[in-house]
Amino acid sequence: METKDPLAEYRSKRNFSRTREPRGTASSQRSPQGTQPRFVIQKHKASTLHYDFRLEVDGVLKSWAVPKGPSTNPREKRLAMPTEDHPIDYIDFEGTIPENEYGAGTVLVWDIGPYHNLKQKPIGQAIEEGQAEIWLEGKKLQGGYALLRTGKGNEVRWLLIKMKDEKADARRNPVSTEPRSVISGHTIEQVKAKAEDG
Ligand code: MN
Repeated sequence: METKDPLAEYRSKRNFSRTREPRGTASSQRSPQGTQPRFVIQKHKASTLHYDFRLEVDGVLKSWAVPKGPSTNPREKRLAMPTEDHPIDYIDFEGTIPENEYGAGTVLVWDIGPYHNLKQKPIGQAIEEGQAEIWLEGKKLQGGYALLRTGKGNEVRWLLIKMKDEKADARRNPVSTEPRSVISGHTIEQVKAKAEDG
């Protein structure tokens, strides 16, 4: 019996002799036991600017592309388009993806940190069922977020919504006021310029 490689789609979309994105080789993909799983939000200036929201789940990064980025306001539902599972070591990828390659453009780590599952059931199952709730402990984002699948057939869509808790704040707008990488401190333009220099 062969189990389906969860990263097959990720690898098939990329040419690793061109892109510097991680290959996601089988070893070292699971985080050490007992450590809290992490989330990352990568700001990605590709053909269109978006924010890739990823959660460490069962040895991969479950991923959604959020065109407007996350909100701290529970009244703002943000569209989240599911994308292919990414390898765990993508979590701190920052740099450029060459022209004509999949996702060509610039990536920075906009927020990162541990998360925990707010539901009784395993997080993988909650995502499978289209109703996940997680608590983020990032540098920019904290508190509960819901990821909800709605609609049917061609109308299926996911929404990323801030839950109502003490970390909710309708006055903040971190996507516009805190644009820099939490790893390098660089803006998208600086990450791009640095990659072009090197
Ligand atoms: Mn992306």
